[in-house]
Amino acid sequence: MDLPNQSGFQSVIKARNLRMTNQRRQILQVLQESDEHLDAEAIYDRVRQKDARVSLATVYRSLTLFKNLGLVDERNLGEDYRRFETAQDEPHYHFTCLACRKVIEFNAPEIEQKIIPQIEAQGLKVTEAHLIVSGYCADCQRDQTRGKKHADTHLRIPNQTNLR
Ligand SMILES: [Zn+2]
Ligand SMILES: [Zn+2]
Repeated sequence: MDLPNQSGFQSVIKARNLRMTNQRRQILQVLQESDEHLDAEAIYDRVRQKDARVSLATVYRSLTLFKNLGLVDERNLGEDYRRFETAQDEPHYHFTCLACRKVIEFNAPEIEQKIIPQIEAQGLKVTEAHLIVSGYCADCQRDQTRGKKHADTHLRIPNQTNLR
């Protein structure tokens, strides 16, 4: 699969006889410029700054199209909404901070090298693997110990002894 760059996207879209409309291009660009794992509404907000005529429906339709073309991955990170990112060649997994909603990526080669082969040894074919890991990022843990109030959260870190 092509590296996630604009010309790679362009050729995938052209190969399917689809048009790379200006709005589609801008949606892809927002995803490429961000490493934040945005949800559809956040993507819509950013695209709207470049093109006020874009609609949320167009953003949703384009994201579905890009997902079907393998250009974009839709992530369920255990929240009540989905997040999107450009497709990458190497598998990776996500940690979500329950307080600030930050997403931190990590690799877990044991999953591809050990766990999936073990599953497939039972005659199963694995096509997808998701690992949902959540907790509190270093910043939020620090804020909590200092008793600082986090702007966008009212969550409390559970008693530290539970985490040991
Ligand atoms: Zn955090
Ligand atoms: Zn990711």
